[in-house]
Amino acid sequence: MLLIGFLISLYIAYGAHRRGALTETGALWAVVVGTLVFGFGDGIAGVALVAFFLSSTALGKLRRGERAESAEPSASIIEKGDSRDGLQVLANGGPAALFCCLYALTGRSMYLVGGLASLAAANADTWATELGLLSKSPPRHILTLQEVPAGTSGAISAIGTVGMVAGALFIALLTWLQPGQGSLLRTLLVLLGGIFGGWMDSVLGATLQEKRQCVRCGEATEQSRHVCGGATLVTEGIAGIDNDTVNALATMLGGTAATVAWYFLVGR
Ligand SMILES: [Zn+2]
Repeated sequence: MLLIGFLISLYIAYGAHRRGALTETGALWAVVVGTLVFGFGDGIAGVALVAFFLSSTALGKLRRGERAESAEPSASIIEKGDSRDGLQVLANGGPAALFCCLYALTGRSMYLVGGLASLAAANADTWATELGLLSKSPPRHILTLQEVPAGTSGAISAIGTVGMVAGALFIALLTWLQPGQGSLLRTLLVLLGGIFGGWMDSVLGATLQEKRQCVRCGEATEQSRHVCGGATLVTEGIAGIDNDTVNALATMLGGTAATVAWYFLVGR
């Protein structure tokens, strides 16, 4: 299974790198994550990983086509471009790889449920972000509900929230299809874990995540050096906690919540 996982991951990561969806380090880490998730995740986690990757890449492409006609709201706010790098791959897929390794080591099905839920959380967050960027009205801070500029971390919109639930549901329904293993309870916990992780992503993004401001032009941004060339300073949140850290925490929390719930309900 590991060898098959390695070959499938290599094929997909190489193709994604050639199309510009992954940077070089992004592709390398995608092979590591993919090999572990395919090799140790009972097959179904590998299917969920590919579904996450393909659907997010497709949504990103659609959104960029859409955005080309309207104003580009976020290029000077968002930290990174459209190719995913190694840290982004690890933040989204690392927890799933960890859960799948724990599943292989212990044989406890709760870890497989956790891995699937962490992928549902990653998918929920990505779909929410992609759809949220299409929102016509400005998003709101998840806790204060005040309007904030498009692209701000931790901001939510109606269409983004629909995207979040749909993203978690997509992975949850997919896991139901696994022959002999899919169950309504598992589907439900993957869905709830995914939504919880997606929600935590916004909460942590709005609270812990560092907010920076450009010293030259004064614009709020996630970049350590602003596109205008100015240096930036941390004005809110904890310095060093960036979008990737928040993403990793959120996918980990979504997976952990489902693991614990499965353990209490099923006992293994
Ligand atoms: Zn600036």
